[in-house]
Amino acid sequence: VSSVAEKFDFFYLVQQWPGSFCDTRQGCCFPDTGKPAAEFGIHGLWPNYAKCGRGRGEELASAVLGEDDVAFFSGAVGRRGKCWPEFCDDGNALSLWEVRDLVASLNRNWPTLSCKSGRSFEFWSYEWKKHGTCSNLAQHDYFARALAIKAAYNLTAILAGAGIVPSDTATYSLSSVRDAIAQGTGFTANLECNRDADGNAQLFQVYQCVDRQGKKLIDCPLSMPTKCSSDQLKLPLF
Ligand code: 5GP
Ligand code: 5GP
Repeated sequence: VSSVAEKFDFFYLVQQWPGSFCDTRQGCCFPDTGKPAAEFGIHGLWPNYAKCGRGRGEELASAVLGEDDVAFFSGAVGRRGKCWPEFCDDGNALSLWEVRDLVASLNRNWPTLSCKSGRSFEFWSYEWKKHGTCSNLAQHDYFARALAIKAAYNLTAILAGAGIVPSDTATYSLSSVRDAIAQGTGFTANLECNRDADGNAQLFQVYQCVDRQGKKLIDCPLSMPTKCSSDQLKLPLF
């Protein structure tokens, strides 16, 4: 475990809609545990800075962190500067033993849909290495907290309650999706869209913002570009 506590401002709990992961040109594969439920699945719990560059390089990250801290981790430097820490401790690999009591729940709630291996443990291990090692949480807490927040706010049910149900024909306005999540959870979230193989815009991922302990939802301090270029979105069947 790294001796220096990572400084960051909040987590994104990112959940993916499986229908939208799978109906792209790239397609998907089901994990070795079988076809996941037609529900949002966890992609990751990602430490984040509330301020990132907006074209000003690394200076905002330095201001948030203090110059001394910047050297302690590798950060992701994108178009908007340093927006999050990542890969904070390559020597800290995920141990199946540490999370053994969570495996059944992880298989249901955090399944891999990539065609790389079919083993969800590899997906969890990658997310732990890239994001979890920067979380200041022990392995078990990191996964348990992500699962607890997902369970406390069932996005699939919240959307259905607002009439936003999976369909291959219906479309929904971006604002109706945004409002349903804000009303159903009590907090604003960020949305990401992608395109199906025919080019239709669809809801792909929901980014809920979580406090630094990974325990409570907060309103998102950042609004990201949505990548939802059209106002009418699909929520495809899975
Ligand atoms: P993409 O470029 O596909 O949006 O993101 C690729 C990867 O970069 C994600 O899987 C995630 O690991 C990381 N990433 C993208 N956006 C964010 C963000 O806003 N915060 C954090 N912490 N990681 C991100
Ligand atoms: P990130 O996008 O978090 O940087 O990287 C996600 C990594 O996990 C990619 O290398 C991707 O291939 C792998 N992966 C495995 N299963 C999944 C999945 O179900 N969804 C996503 N988005 N990535 C997955």
